[in-house]
Amino acid sequence: MGLRETLKEELSFLGGFKVTLEQMRRSRVTWQYPLEKKPKPIRQHGRHVLNRYEDGMEKCIGCELCAGVCPADCIYVRGADNPEADPVSPGERYGFVYEINYLRCIHCDMCVEACPTEAITESKMFEFSFTNRADAIYTKAELVVDDEGRPRRLPWEDWRPGDDDHTSAWMRATSPSGSAEYEGRVQWSGELGYGVRAPEGGQSGRRDDEATGIRSLRDVLSLHLDDDERTDEQRGVQGALRRLRHRVELQKKLLSPRRKDA
Ligand code: SF4
Ligand code: SF4
Repeated sequence: MGLRETLKEELSFLGGFKVTLEQMRRSRVTWQYPLEKKPKPIRQHGRHVLNRYEDGMEKCIGCELCAGVCPADCIYVRGADNPEADPVSPGERYGFVYEINYLRCIHCDMCVEACPTEAITESKMFEFSFTNRADAIYTKAELVVDDEGRPRRLPWEDWRPGDDDHTSAWMRATSPSGSAEYEGRVQWSGELGYGVRAPEGGQSGRRDDEATGIRSLRDVLSLHLDDDERTDEQRGVQGALRRLRHRVELQKKLLSPRRKDA
C-alpha cells in the first residue's frame, strides 16, 4: 500500500465530520426564548379581546352565542338592555357581564366564529400565566379594548410588538365560508383605531399583504433556508446583507425596553 492510500485510510475518519461541518455553515436555528421570539403567525390564537366600533361603542350585544358554542364551557355572559340615555352598544342589548376562564380555554376560536358582531376576537399574545384562580378569569373590564382599540396589558402578560396587531385575522380569514367567489371581500365592520381592516391574505390573488402586514413564510424563515432553497434575492451578498439587517433589527428589539404601558 502506497503512502497516498495509507494517508487516505488513516484520515478516513474525517468523513464522519462532513455532516457536522455542513451544519456549521448554516444559520443558527436556536432562538433564545423568551428573550427572543419568533414572529408569530397572523392567525395565532392568543388572548381574547372584546372589540369596539370605530365610534367607541362596544360590539358585544350580550347574545351568549359564544358561551353556547364554547366546548370548554369557559365563557360566562349576561346581557342587559342598553340604557336609553347612554347606550353601550348599537343594539337593544349589550354584554353586561363577560368573563373568560383561561384555566379552561383551549383557544379553539369557536367563540370567534360564532359571534354575529365580530365582538370577540383573539390577539397573538399567549405568554401569560397566573398564580391564582381569580387572575385566570378575565373580566369584561380586562377584555374590552382601550380607547385606542388596543388590548389592555395586564401585569402578568408578556406583550411584544405585533402581538396586538390584527386581532381579527382569524375571523377575517374564515368569514367567507360560502363560495370561494367571496374570498377576499370585506363583509365585516370597522374597528376602533383601525377602521375597516383589509382582507386577510388567503388563497386568492385578492390578498392585500401591504395592508395586512403579512410576510410570506419564505421571508420570515429565510434565515434558516439552505442556499439552494433561497430565491435569487435571498442569495449571495444581497441575501447575506438582508439577513444581517434582520439580525440587527432583532437585536435592537431585544435591547429596547419592553412595553409596559398598561
Ligand atoms: S377559544 Fe374556544 S375554548 Fe376558548 S373561549 Fe373561545 S370557544 Fe371557548
Ligand atoms: S361576544 Fe359576540 S357571541 Fe358573545 S355575547 Fe357578545 S355578541 Fe354574542
